[in-house]
Amino acid sequence: MSKSNKTVPKLKFNEGWSYAPAPESASHVKLQDRYDLFIGGKFVKPTSGKYFDTINPANEEKIAQVAEANSADVDKAVKAARTAYDKTWKKIPAKERGKYIYRIARMIQERARELAVIESMDGGKPIKESRDVDIPLVANHFFYYAGWADKLQYAFPNKIPRPLGVAGQIIPWNFPLLMAAWKIAPALACGNTVVLKPAETTPLTALKLAEIIQESGLPDGVVNIITGFGETGAALVNHPGIDKIAFTGSTDVGKIIQKAVAGTNKKVTLELGGKAANIIFDGAPIDQAVEGIINGIYFNQGHVCCAGSRLFVQESVYEEVLQKLKDRIETLIVGDPLDKNTDVGAINSRAQLDTINKYLQLGQDEGSEMFQGSCGLPGKGFFCKPTIFTNVAQSSRIAQEEIFGPVLTIQTFRTDDEVIEKANNTPYGLSAGVWTDKGSKIFNLTTKMRAGVVWANTYNKFDPTAPFGGYKESGYGREGGLHGLGAYLKL
Ligand code: ADP
Repeated sequence: MSKSNKTVPKLKFNEGWSYAPAPESASHVKLQDRYDLFIGGKFVKPTSGKYFDTINPANEEKIAQVAEANSADVDKAVKAARTAYDKTWKKIPAKERGKYIYRIARMIQERARELAVIESMDGGKPIKESRDVDIPLVANHFFYYAGWADKLQYAFPNKIPRPLGVAGQIIPWNFPLLMAAWKIAPALACGNTVVLKPAETTPLTALKLAEIIQESGLPDGVVNIITGFGETGAALVNHPGIDKIAFTGSTDVGKIIQKAVAGTNKKVTLELGGKAANIIFDGAPIDQAVEGIINGIYFNQGHVCCAGSRLFVQESVYEEVLQKLKDRIETLIVGDPLDKNTDVGAINSRAQLDTINKYLQLGQDEGSEMFQGSCGLPGKGFFCKPTIFTNVAQSSRIAQEEIFGPVLTIQTFRTDDEVIEKANNTPYGLSAGVWTDKGSKIFNLTTKMRAGVVWANTYNKFDPTAPFGGYKESGYGREGGLHGLGAYLKL
């Protein structure tokens, strides 16, 4: 059993030397200067003729121009999806639908390296995350749902599963291609057609997916991908030809969408913000827990709705955990997302960096103590040092509001009841983590925590077969697994 070991010497790792750069090659990446809208199986110019830049947040350089869809373009895309639904997609045998989805999955695997590099260039996440987590999961989602396409009656025995029709899907910038996969794969498997809008700061991998879909021979109009800002998303939500809205993003926009669809026949699933509690009990394997905490909040710059942004440590191991966290933070490598050694990449946009910096100031103004690693930051681009706040009150805004950055608040507790009360005391309920050597504690906490996912002695583990979604202001509906199929069917 791992117990407090206060004689562990302070790590001197990385002092006076550093890793040589190990950049992933981008020479195989094929990108155009300008991307149009993918509607009805073709790339078409936007009605307004307007384009906007998508930049690399690690160096602030333009990567490409992307079309801005207005309501006329949204209308074209929805009509193309409706025609495809009526004329082809709902008529072809389910096993044929499955074949197309399998083909897309295989093509994603074949182009995995290119997609990973583009994801890191456009979004700022470290290549080891996009290469080892995002893109394999993208392919896995398509494989998983391809398998269900002709087995829906087994998934829902004694029911007659029917598609909903045309799905409007709006996704954020933190997992650009993975969110596209979460939305498109189950929708197609269930026989729906799709209009997808990626986030304005990370449109490129969705447009690459459009190229893959075009090459795959999927019938025209079954998947349409349109780029633009919030107004484009709003035009999609409000279009009368949409049967279902699937949204992942901020709680504020989720509330706008919920109001917009009230009183219509549109079905909705919302996956919104989070403020996950990660809880370390005194009997936990401390080193493993510290690594899990670091993974849960820093490895993706905290750009994860389920990021473990609030740490609760049982009082008796608090000093040990805090010291080990600080030591580990000193070893984290912050910098070029395309470098294979990088742990913490770039913040997605200047606006997001400004938001994070506002919270760093706010936390100090509220009386909390801030600790940051001593690493330097690159001169250009949007970066933030991994940060810890201690001396945090339960009511502090940094402990209540979603920061969406590499910022961890730490609080202590003595009993199970106290930590359950504290962990549940936010408007959110997306995920949580428990670190302990006692199965009984795991059962006690998982049944009492109001969170969609509770990880035990691990964190941020995803699998296409497992449903994911939130309680309270984290949204409703589930994606992944059988639940994810149900969200795209009339039963
Ligand atoms: P985040 O804070 O993660 O950027 P947002 O909710 O602002 O989350 O954005 C998520 C997605 O929602 C993006 O694709 C964005 O363009 C889109 N969006 C923003 N505002 C609206 C809106 N009013 N209606 C529909 N979609 C919107």
